[in-house]
Amino acid sequence: MTPRREAIAGERKQAAADVRKIYSELAGRPVTRNCTLRTECCQFLLTGKTPYLTTGEALVAAQAFKAAGRRTLPAREDGACPLLDPRTAKCLIYDSRPFGCRTHFCAAAGGPYPRRDVADLIHRLEAIAHHLGGTEARPLAGAIREFLA
Ligand code: SF4
Repeated sequence: MTPRREAIAGERKQAAADVRKIYSELAGRPVTRNCTLRTECCQFLLTGKTPYLTTGEALVAAQAFKAAGRRTLPAREDGACPLLDPRTAKCLIYDSRPFGCRTHFCAAAGGPYPRRDVADLIHRLEAIAHHLGGTEARPLAGAIREFLA
């Protein structure tokens, strides 16, 4: 491995650890939410909403997707998230799902988190993205594909 590649690998490893720490801190916040894996929020066509991922979130999601033995995001003609397993109807990367999947969309789980309760975590995700050279948050599939290439 060249020194440049080694440096990138090191940066990504640290970034992924930092993103996972943010997810862990979010789980510890005293905001009552109850995701019961209904996966309604994973039906983008029905909800009209798609999670946007910062670069670090996309990196973590891609790592988890690969760890699940997958390499290519499938096209979903039904408009569902490509990370929703059509056989089991479960998220393939649930423990590594993006921030938006944890904090938005699902009325049954309690609705969106108030931004004031998670703004500091969002700012940290943006800082990680900036450090990785990322631009703005992007729709889920395109953001993850970058790290599957
Ligand atoms: S990443 Fe997982 S939780 Fe998030 S929308 Fe896709 S399938 Fe649902």
